[in-house]
Amino acid sequence: MPYYDLRCPHCEKEYVINATITEKTEKTIACPDCKSTDLKTVFKAAPYFKNNDQVFDN
Ligand SMILES: [Zn+2]
Repeated sequence: MPYYDLRCPHCEKEYVINATITEKTEKTIACPDCKSTDLKTVFKAAPYFKNNDQVFDN
């Protein structure tokens, strides 16, 4: 499952949420705090991680 950087306009907080593409497109992802589904995707430019952004291994 992909991770999304989402921002809640109500809480003014950003969350990294693990969700399916379907959940995201259908806006069924709720804010952990206020349960709002009006979350905005945060687009982050990551020019420094082009070659090695697979950092999930430990
Ligand atoms: Zn919220």
